[in-house]
Amino acid sequence: MNKSGRSIYLYFVIIICLLLFTVWVGTLRVPGSGYTRGEFERQMENNEVAVVTVCPNKDTPTGSLEVVLKNGEERVLYVTDVSEMEAVVRGYGIDCKVESVPEESWFLNSVLPILIVVVVCVFFFVMMNSQNSGGGGKMMNFGKSRARLTMGGENKITLEEVAGLKEEKEELQEIVEFLKEPGKFTKVGARIPKGVLLEGAPGTGKTLLAKAIAGEANVPFFSISGSDFVEMFVGVGASRVRDMFAEAKRHAPCIIFIDEIDAVARRRGTGMGGGHDEREQTLNQLLVEMDGFGVNEGIIVMAATNRVDILDPAILRPGRFDRKITVVSPDVRGREDILKVHAKNKPLGDDVNLQQIAQTTAGFTGADLENLLNEAAINAAMDKRAFVRQDDIKKAFIKVGIGAEKKSRIISEKEKKITAYHEAGHAILFHVLPDVGPVYTVSIIPTGLGAAGYTMPLPEKDEMFLTKGKMIEDIMVSLGGRIAEEIIFDDITTGASSDIKKATNVARRMVTRYGMSDNIGVINYDDDDDEVFIGRDLAHAKNHSELVSGEIDREVKTIIDDCYQKAKDIIMEHEDVLHKCAKLLLEKEKINRAEFESLFDTYYPQPEEPGSGID
Ligand code: ADP
Ligand code: ZN
Repeated sequence: MNKSGRSIYLYFVIIICLLLFTVWVGTLRVPGSGYTRGEFERQMENNEVAVVTVCPNKDTPTGSLEVVLKNGEERVLYVTDVSEMEAVVRGYGIDCKVESVPEESWFLNSVLPILIVVVVCVFFFVMMNSQNSGGGGKMMNFGKSRARLTMGGENKITLEEVAGLKEEKEELQEIVEFLKEPGKFTKVGARIPKGVLLEGAPGTGKTLLAKAIAGEANVPFFSISGSDFVEMFVGVGASRVRDMFAEAKRHAPCIIFIDEIDAVARRRGTGMGGGHDEREQTLNQLLVEMDGFGVNEGIIVMAATNRVDILDPAILRPGRFDRKITVVSPDVRGREDILKVHAKNKPLGDDVNLQQIAQTTAGFTGADLENLLNEAAINAAMDKRAFVRQDDIKKAFIKVGIGAEKKSRIISEKEKKITAYHEAGHAILFHVLPDVGPVYTVSIIPTGLGAAGYTMPLPEKDEMFLTKGKMIEDIMVSLGGRIAEEIIFDDITTGASSDIKKATNVARRMVTRYGMSDNIGVINYDDDDDEVFIGRDLAHAKNHSELVSGEIDREVKTIIDDCYQKAKDIIMEHEDVLHKCAKLLLEKEKINRAEFESLFDTYYPQPEEPGSGID
């Protein structure tokens, strides 16, 4: 629950108190029960009355008599004509005081109720307002959305301050150029992506990258977190999205940065207990807005997430986030560069060796490295020293390492070795098999998403041309990691679980969706398009019998077993490459295509996509 959530309760309490107060005031004015003129006159006759105070009302002859009896009792009598009544009382020779026209009773009777109504209205108004704007003066005058606006020029960050991430920066260069000089692109009819999705583990510099793009192009930067859109009132998120885009249009060209976009853009129609209306509305509004502004209008939406898998596929369609950039954890060189950037304003002693620190911090993200140097500087300050020594960094390393063990894993030598062989296994199959690959990068830097390393082929070809042969090869490649582990180490690890899942999924789809097995035939037994999603699959009935299910499972197993054997034969055949590749990986952590291919003696013709220009 956030601040505005709490203040709503506060308002409710205040309003309820006010209502109770009005009721109380009302009871105060209720006239004395059943005190009649007849009774009063009888009391006067019986000489029971001590004092009478006459209280005339304003502007009318009406008023009230406050009667004090001799026995101490007090009564109030309301009369239609005060002066007549006063004469009667005086006639009895009773002590009679006349009060001047009572201002305060008039105030209580007519002004206070109005005042209360006004106060309540104001409170409601303030409450609704704070709901939308999130209150707070430093939000700039950004209407009702909560985005923070940084104008170009204010504490500007440039791409230079983003260390490493060379490929990522290159990919984003065109966006910088576009924001600087849109005319250059519109003249030749080029279409610039409206949205860029930055995917990567937390702390890898996604926010930094987006900010740097804005700084480099010198345009305003709106930043907001996906969770800021999601409130408990339906429709608030959608209206915030609308406001944000309206504001952005006024500042175009500009960049909108949505952090944690998964908070709003989660796949629709999933989750137990029905959809989340508010989130879906917000997402729909986001899609509408992105579709709504024209190409080259000068607004670029950048979004960051570390969970691409749970995003709604609709946001990845052309005209929305059609550019996806994976921001990876830095390699040795990247880490050294990041350390250099953050060491700039910290005086270093001459014994500091940033290169060595980079080598020992495998798995650290940019944020971790920044934190490391900061801790080191704190250590130096605690020591009353004006510069940082290698020792300070080592101490900080232990502190950060133990404190952040779950977040940024420090990989043991043994783990590294297993990963190296695992990835080498994948890579060899990518290289040798004709329909997959070629290998673009092999790395044993943990991705932060649970994988200890990765082997990346060049971009896959169009799914339209997916063949049975290609799918079989995909399965073989997936199994390659586990096979390599099994060949080299007697033991096997749990590290291959996602590979196994992937292989199984492909095999199952071959059987149930594409009619690629003889025993099952060309029948679709596929229940659903995508992976299992809680809620959605539970609601789905199977469309085939248990018997067929068993048959499918057997077919899947046959396919996997065949692939496993074939893949193992290939890897055994290239055992020398396996060793060489693993050794190189342990040395360099990340190797590129040329380095990898030079490990083979024989030439394997690889499919090359014309124009897939990554090299
Ligand atoms: P993310 O948005 O991916 O979670 P951030 O961009 O917020 O990560 O990064 C947090 C901090 O880590 C940055 O403010 C910066 O100090 C540091 N950092 C991360 N990556 C880099 C990098 N490539 N170069 C320099 N500093 C970095
Ligand atoms: Zn693997």
